[in-house]
Amino acid sequence: MHEMMIATELLSQLDDLAAEHGLSRITHVSVAAGELRGIVPEALDMAFAEASHGTAAEGATLELEIVPTRARCRQCGQVFQPTVDSFLCPGCNLADVEFLAGHDIVLSRIDGDS
Ligand SMILES: [Zn+2]
Repeated sequence: MHEMMIATELLSQLDDLAAEHGLSRITHVSVAAGELRGIVPEALDMAFAEASHGTAAEGATLELEIVPTRARCRQCGQVFQPTVDSFLCPGCNLADVEFLAGHDIVLSRIDGDS
């Protein structure tokens, strides 16, 4: 269950951010996650709730935004949105792509009380 690893990683970032901004409690977290990471939102919710016990983010609401995959063809330069099972360029039909988005997991917003 890789959602638990992601939740643990997020919580360690949240701990640092809470300390940095003098927050005693984090109430809301927004996360933008690349589609290619294949996160199951319900599984991440559960993992986050479990892993946040005893941290500043305990009880915080978690909002997950899935960021669509974007790739650029190395052959013809076309930027397109590949699907999970096909990375073929619609311009030249080759699968020689560089991913521009779809892999990253980013904390886009946190709310909290000081
Ligand atoms: Zn191409």
